[in-house]
Amino acid sequence: MTAFEVINPATEEVLQVVDLLDEAAVDDAVEKAKVAQREWARQAPADRAAALRSFAAVVDAHVDELAALEVANSGHPISSAEWEAGHVRDVLNFYAAAPERLSGKQIPVAGGLDVTFNEPLGVIGIITPWNFPMTIAAWGFAPALAAGNAVVLKPAEWTPLTTLRLKELAVEAGLPADLFQVLPGKGSVVGERFVTHPDVRKVVFTGSTAVGKQVMAKAAAHVKRVTLELGGKSANIVFDDCDLERAAATAPYGVFDNAGQDCCARSRILVQRNVYDRFMELFEPAVKGVVVGDPRAKDTEMGPLVSKPHWEKVKSYVPDDAPVAFRGSAPTGAGYWFPPTVLTPSRTDRAVREEIFGPVVTVLPFEDEADAIALANDTPYGLSGSIWTDNLSRALRVSRAIESGNLSVNSHSSVRYHTPFGGFKQSGLGRELGPDAPLSFTETKNVFIAVQEA
Ligand code: NAD
Repeated sequence: MTAFEVINPATEEVLQVVDLLDEAAVDDAVEKAKVAQREWARQAPADRAAALRSFAAVVDAHVDELAALEVANSGHPISSAEWEAGHVRDVLNFYAAAPERLSGKQIPVAGGLDVTFNEPLGVIGIITPWNFPMTIAAWGFAPALAAGNAVVLKPAEWTPLTTLRLKELAVEAGLPADLFQVLPGKGSVVGERFVTHPDVRKVVFTGSTAVGKQVMAKAAAHVKRVTLELGGKSANIVFDDCDLERAAATAPYGVFDNAGQDCCARSRILVQRNVYDRFMELFEPAVKGVVVGDPRAKDTEMGPLVSKPHWEKVKSYVPDDAPVAFRGSAPTGAGYWFPPTVLTPSRTDRAVREEIFGPVVTVLPFEDEADAIALANDTPYGLSGSIWTDNLSRALRVSRAIESGNLSVNSHSSVRYHTPFGGFKQSGLGRELGPDAPLSFTETKNVFIAVQEA
């Protein structure tokens, strides 16, 4: 077993040392999870529903504690962290309704009765990234548990603390200890073992597209089910017929939320050429107005980047000769601070094509609707995006033409727990959230019962 120092990204102080588990520990956890799953699946649906509601209630009672822990571990502004902890509660409450609603079907057939059952898969392995540790964990474990499965979950090395706490809260709420296990460890050890272990029947992976491809390739050896939530390079398209003041005032929050460490970040702003100069005039004070600072302060809108290695990666996209249009401010001194940064590069620049995952946005002009659509789709990704226009027909035409899983018109909203979320193209496979998520943790079993002639 090795240990990992978890660091506060706003102060660079060591918060806690977490033991990283090895492969044998994963195998042991999966054995225990298999036993717990069989007992869980045998429980009455109403009892499983009640257990999930209790879990939600205990999370609700600890929202402040979980939020403070996320602020310290991930550098999220306190207002965001409070929303994230409350979101975990809401996701649990939403899926607490599922055990009593996974009703299968009765299908008319000749000679008998045909019914389908939504059988749980068994043990589910969930691998989460560091950018939204609590919320992304809940998107997996809540519907998986609701559908009658056990869960083993590996948080990202940099940000395990809130997920470890959620596991304790589950036990406090009365869930069996082995039903939902959090296993901190390296991706190449614990994560990889989830993928190769024959008794982990599905892997839900959220992270980079590069690692997601490896997960999918290795899962194929077992015909293992996968859900993949991967990278993004989403467009924020600003047409000349929109409310330009609102588009410019909100654009920073479409990309700099969570310091740009957001798979849905609208990191390419595309502006119709005839309003480009006016947009930039309005955008500059909006960017400079983003409040970057101590994540514990109520009015802070953006905290630090998560770690020093990640800071270095983001910095590589803003070399000394980068085409910087303007920048916001950021604290100096300890902490991995990076100011909101606006670039105006060429269409083929690396900053336009690659996911930066930091507070760096590129702005490009476009000519007309066809050019905007072509530019927005000119990426291997397809996760999110925004369309600003007051023309309803255009909003619908462009929404249908953009190859992306989650679009918003005249806003930057992407995630609601009751609507589906996921990516087109190399942004992923499958959907999380929404009413159908529990079904993705089940197999459909068809049973025909012959009726004898009287
Ligand atoms: P990452 O791919 O480096 O790591 C993600 C997780 O996978 C971590 O827990 C890591 O330990 C684990 N891992 C690493 N190697 C592994 C392996 N060989 N086998 C199994 N697991 C392994 O990603 P990250 O840097 O933590 O997260 C940032 C990325 O996540 C960005 O690309 C972002 O767009 C993406 N993301 C996507 C969504 C979405 O919903 N589409 C949401 C959040 C983040």
